Amino acid sequence: PNRLDSQGSQEGERLVWPRQNSLSLREWDIPYDELSISEPIGNGRFGTVFSGNWHGSVAVKVLNMEYLDDEKTLEAFKSEVGTFRKTRHENLILFMGACMKPPKLALVTSLCKGLTLFTHIHLRKDKFNMNKTTNIAQQITQGMGYLHSRGIIHKDLKSKNIFLENNKVVITDFGLFNVTRLCHGNRKCSGLSIPPGWLCYLSPEIIRSLRSSDNDDLPFNKASDIYAFGTVWYELLCGEWPFKEHPPEAIIWQVGKGIKQSLAHLQASKDTKDILMLCWAFKSSERPDFVQLATTLGKLPKKRLARSPSHPVHLSRSAES
Ligand code: ATP
Repeated sequence: PNRLDSQGSQEGERLVWPRQNSLSLREWDIPYDELSISEPIGNGRFGTVFSGNWHGSVAVKVLNMEYLDDEKTLEAFKSEVGTFRKTRHENLILFMGACMKPPKLALVTSLCKGLTLFTHIHLRKDKFNMNKTTNIAQQITQGMGYLHSRGIIHKDLKSKNIFLENNKVVITDFGLFNVTRLCHGNRKCSGLSIPPGWLCYLSPEIIRSLRSSDNDDLPFNKASDIYAFGTVWYELLCGEWPFKEHPPEAIIWQVGKGIKQSLAHLQASKDTKDILMLCWAFKSSERPDFVQLATTLGKLPKKRLARSPSHPVHLSRSAES
């Protein structure tokens, strides 16, 4: 009889796993011709995102092929697809499949109808009340906690990668960082290339590892995702990024030394600010995990809405949304 090993898999299973893996990867392959591609939604470092149709509305993220001429990027892409197909959580984007035959590499996911937190906070300057802010943060911790429990590091958690759809948080772009980096890294440029809005999500240990020539092995781990969550929590609370208007060199120097954004101007309870300080702890071992964060967020006092018999419940609810 087969025995279970320490990872819970059966003896013998490991021998056939690589074949099973490539077979199941094939199950997610979508022939490019089956997709009907319509409007471009926007460009990112990875390539262009289009809205399209494949058995209903989808988002098609087409990899920028300009720099893709090596096996390494294709392998990184397939490995990310392998990661993606393991994710099933209501706060994570629904992965539907991928076009894996060069020269057309694309990821097909559900199409988010809502706006990103980036658009809400930085473009529309929307203000969320504290109950809603906490609720959004809790949903992020749930989706991220699930990813971490599956051994997946997001590596690029930021307000641009978090959609809000009818009050539901949907996190995207997890694990795609390696592909993005390879697409980007092939470009011949000298000096440290820092996409705008990236630095304030990077933990001190990552900032200290940035190199002008080669950023292949940045030490992303669960704790660096927690640091990035801290920055999203700050954006939700303040409506802006930490170290706003500081030049990149100043951010690198301060964060690398353990200097944090001052919270003096932030009108929030001590518990709320403590979450920021914990997530931004200089030592990665001192940062909480997403399960602990979910509990801490759940303990923040909820503002009760004044209700009176003459004030119907549905009216007070709509005031909250
Ligand atoms: P970066 O590459 O720096 O992470 P980004 O997040 O804006 O920037 P992409 O993730 O490539 O880049 O997204 C490009 C555009 O497409 C953005 O406006 C994004 O909000 C939108 N988008 C991405 N995925 C979806 C989706 N599943 N549904 C709807 N819109 C999407």
